[in-house]
Amino acid sequence: NLRCRSAFKLIEIDDRFKVLKPGDTVVDCGAAPGSWTQVAVDRTNANRAKESNNTGTVFSIDLLHFHAVPGATVFCGMDFTTTTAQQRLREALAGRQANCVLSDMAPNATGVRMLDQENIMNLCYSVLRFALAISAINAHLVVKLWANGDVSKLEKDLGRFYEHVKRVKPESSRSDSAELFLVAREFKGLERALKA
Ligand code: SAM
Repeated sequence: NLRCRSAFKLIEIDDRFKVLKPGDTVVDCGAAPGSWTQVAVDRTNANRAKESNNTGTVFSIDLLHFHAVPGATVFCGMDFTTTTAQQRLREALAGRQANCVLSDMAPNATGVRMLDQENIMNLCYSVLRFALAISAINAHLVVKLWANGDVSKLEKDLGRFYEHVKRVKPESSRSDSAELFLVAREFKGLERALKA
């Protein structure tokens, strides 16, 4: 009973790259209607479905309202890019570091390709900046972007902070859609990243 088929994109990404594990703390950006959150809750055991596993923690945020996902803490009606929203997330994290930051956020299309590109890139960089501030060493980051933009620039920037960066077009992503994901694994930690 996943809420929508976009869940399969995260399932595919996680099956291949193992970005989620029981006990992890996850932040899911652009989470409505909640299917990535469902996958994150399941794979981190945030709902304590498996008693023998560690219990994870999942925080989800979206501009839109969506139904609670058992096991996750959901922030609705909030723009992730604002200081207020990020402050709320940090308060909720309460000093806990994230092991994985996910973003399936996409802006509303304006129809002007250049502006749409700039908007989604701004979302990606906003997620990256936040992830750098709250992530544990060896944490992972998954961000959605559009293939017709400057993928290489973001890829290169992610490479300064994460050991492995991969472009991924999941099978379950419609082939006519320009979306792709950058999967960045093993956060180096700011100290090491900035020294290099
Ligand atoms: N991953 C979700 C799932 O599986 O259910 C689907 C996410 S949907 C493709 C993209 C979402 O990003 C939309 O719900 C949209 O409201 C949200 N979004 C776009 N810009 C945002 C922003 N600045 N802050 C928070 N959410 C945003």
